[in-house]
Order: sequence, then C-alpha cells, then structure tokens
Amino acid sequence: MKGNFHARFGLGEKVEIISKPYLSVSRVIGNVYDPSREIVNGRGNLSFTTINLPRLGLKHRGDIKGFYEELDSTIDLVIEQLIERFEIQASKKVHNFPFLMGQGIWIDSDKLNKDDEIREVLKHGTLSIGFIGLAECLKALTGFHHGESIESQKLGLEIIGHMRDRMDETSRQFGMNFTLLATPAEGTAGRFVKMDREIFGEIEGITDREYYTNSFHVPVYYEITAFKKINIEAPYHELTNAGHITYVELDGDPTQNLDAFEKIVRAMKEAGVGYGSINHPVDRDPVCGFTGIIGDTCPKCGREEGNVKFQRIRRITGYLVGTLERFNDAKRAEERDRVKHFSCSYK
Ligand SMILES: [Zn+2]
Repeated sequence: MKGNFHARFGLGEKVEIISKPYLSVSRVIGNVYDPSREIVNGRGNLSFTTINLPRLGLKHRGDIKGFYEELDSTIDLVIEQLIERFEIQASKKVHNFPFLMGQGIWIDSDKLNKDDEIREVLKHGTLSIGFIGLAECLKALTGFHHGESIESQKLGLEIIGHMRDRMDETSRQFGMNFTLLATPAEGTAGRFVKMDREIFGEIEGITDREYYTNSFHVPVYYEITAFKKINIEAPYHELTNAGHITYVELDGDPTQNLDAFEKIVRAMKEAGVGYGSINHPVDRDPVCGFTGIIGDTCPKCGREEGNVKFQRIRRITGYLVGTLERFNDAKRAEERDRVKHFSCSYK
C-alpha cells in the first residue's frame, strides 16, 4: 500500500482513484493554438515562472489598489520573460531534439524535416505563470488568511481570478497557451520567505515561518476540518488551468475506516477539486516486512526500533519519502507543522 491516494475528477460521474509513488501536478489540456486538439499527449509545459504574492502583499499592506497595480506590472514582466524563453526554445531545430521531435513524439513534429525550426509545433505547449503564498499575501493585505475569514476568501478568489483572466487575455492576444499554475513549490517556498524576511523583518503569520504556504492552500499549521479545507480550496482549482492539488492530512490507518475515506473523496468531487490527495502515515518495518501504523514497537514482530529504523513514509510536494533527511529545511519545517484534518482511528 502506498502512502497517498490521488483522485482525478473528470467532467463525467466516474471517480477514478489512483495511487502512484509520484505524480506531477501540472496539467496541459486546453489548446488555444489548435482548439481541435485539446489533448494531454504529445504536448507539455514549456516553462513557468512563479510570482511571490506575499512580497506584493507586504509592499501594499491595506492598499488593494496599489497591490493590483503592481500585480499587473509583475504579470506583464513575467509574460515578457516567458516569451523571451519561448523564442530561445522556438529557434531550435528538429535535430536538436532527436527523440522528442525526431521520433515524432511531440504533436505534428512528424511533419517537419530535421533542419526545420520547431516554433510552430511548440505552440501546442503551455507557458505558465505560477504563484506562491496566497495565504500570507491575504494576511498582509487584510490581517487574515482565507481559512480565517470569508472576506479574505472572497479577495483571494478575486486575485487568482484576475490572474487567470490575464492569462486568458494573453492567450487570445498571442494565439498561444498561457495558463495559471498553482505552483508545487519546493525550493521556492523557503527561498522567497528568507528574502522577504530580510526586507520586511519577521512579521507574525507572514514571514515568521521557514516557508511560504504553497499556492492557494490553507496553511498546513492551521486547525481546520477536512471538509472546510476542501470547500475553501476547491474554487481555486477551476481557476488554475495549468495544474493544482488539494491535500487532506489523515492520521491513523484509513483501511480501518473506509467510510471516512470515501466521504473525503466524494466531498472533493462534489466541491470541484480537480486533483485531490489524501495523505496518511504509512510505516514499514524492514525487518519483518510489516506495513501499517507502527508506534514504539512493531505490531507484527514486537521489536522496538533499534539500529534498524522503522521507515516512515511521508509526502513532500509530490514525492513520497521514507526519510525527510534529504529534503530542504523549509519543506522539513512544513512537514513538522502539519496538522491532521481528519481522524481515521477508532477509539
Ligand atoms: Zn516487525
């Protein structure tokens, strides 16, 4: 058994539950360049750049108008940068990518000769703007994040809705796919907050942790039920057409409470979550092979953790890891702060 279940929800009624050791949260479906081919295969994300929302919030505390002005000029800058990067990629030839283009993996690349530019076929791909720390940004602008206040949630949806509108507008303008990404930040989560702490100092609820909250997530340390978290985060899924994920943290062993597990999956689907993940602890004893929840002693062989450590599988931004030792400090701190949203244990 793996430590995470993922459910992808399509437009139909079918709920598909998949379990994989690693899944990317990027999503490439819409196709402005060729609407007859809104497909997943043969295409990909060409590049993305993440905007530091807390920085903009901190520069314009209580000043929504100033915030939007700088958000817009930042988006303009990122669009320019994405186009510049695209120009570099587009000027390459088929022979520069012997597998992807030479073997016809990418859409329409089979119609090109080996010395042709790949510009036109690359237009099937996506260019994305991502964002981090909506929670800290809202805290800076209003004093509350979107888990704490309905007003902040409204503002959060407005901000992300505005970013999405800008992407749609840019797609029409260039006839290319500009999309909005709920960035699954790994290094950025710790790097941005460190930079901002140097400028703005340590501000409670904003720069006082080792990481910024990913994308539109409710902060991992905030006490909230699974269902409330799902309902707050779900409306952002529709807006982030380059990819998104919502997590719920469980304690205990979900196989002992499948009803609760199913309730969460269904709540995600009903709320409009495009991609959901349920994280729960999975421990393994490498000596006897027991998999499940291990406290101080192994329920199967009764041994205590001595020199041979129990493996404790956890999830960090899409990776299932048996140990956190090799992850960066920010993500380790984030894992430490996580609160559970639902208990699967029978008492
Ligand atoms: Zn054992």
